[in-house]
Amino acid sequence: MNRNDLNERIKTSNKIVIKIGSARLAGSEEEVNDFLFSLVSDIRHLRDLGKQVILVSSGAIARGRKLLATLPNSAEAGESLPEKQALAAMGQNRLVNLYDSFFSKVNLPIAQILFGVLDMENPEGFKNLKNTFGQLLDWGILPIVNENDSVATEEVKFGDNDVLSAIVSLIVEADLLIILTGVEGFLKDGKLLPFLEEVGKSELSQAGGPSGPGTGGMYTKLKAASIASEAGIPCGIIDGNRKNCVREFIETNTLGTLVVSNGKKKHFTEEEIKSILRAKRNGGQE
Ligand code: GLU
Repeated sequence: MNRNDLNERIKTSNKIVIKIGSARLAGSEEEVNDFLFSLVSDIRHLRDLGKQVILVSSGAIARGRKLLATLPNSAEAGESLPEKQALAAMGQNRLVNLYDSFFSKVNLPIAQILFGVLDMENPEGFKNLKNTFGQLLDWGILPIVNENDSVATEEVKFGDNDVLSAIVSLIVEADLLIILTGVEGFLKDGKLLPFLEEVGKSELSQAGGPSGPGTGGMYTKLKAASIASEAGIPCGIIDGNRKNCVREFIETNTLGTLVVSNGKKKHFTEEEIKSILRAKRNGGQE
């Protein structure tokens, strides 16, 4: 696809999934506020253009940890599953309240969707999830998705929200997935790679693991991009610290790394989506 067609494709994307990692929401109050002001104004702009937006946001565990630290006599939480699940339970409502306090200022109503791998295994669960997304988008509500961390078990977890955001993109049949990260994009041999047609072993071997409060790293971002790209959904991995990065990326397509295959957008059946998830679980993190 030539550069102009590609820019046009990104610019005219109608249904956009944006993934936000814990690091964007775990800094000082000032940093988090700055990030949210910029995000909210970009999303309001996209909505004014008639586009549909879905957010996949991490940060429940990180916000829970912050809350625990402010409580008198509270023990410090470690990294065990029960501790992280309890932190997620404490932090998820705060996370959504935080989003609500920002999005309500620009008159964008939000809704929370929490789900896990097991909900998708159940045919009714999958159908209902898809219908809920459809109904919310029809009503002009902004869905904010996270994994239902407090009930998931290690064996049946998406684990990282990068892959969750790719799965959500398949379910809602998005036109574009944007993953916000803390670096410029994917660095290959130390240099930013602006385009990638296929995520291969050599790219994965150069992608690092998590460096902050989240679970993923560049590795899981590339994995997510390759899942989206199999369905013909372009995926931009861009620097979320940059002001108005979402709008700039969509308008100019000059930021970060764009993973995009030649293929047209393809409908993935329920079975196909589930088999991607099963393969991920069986294959683990390689
Ligand atoms: N679902 C986890 C949370 O909200 C984050 C998983 C991840 O880091 O991707 O804290």
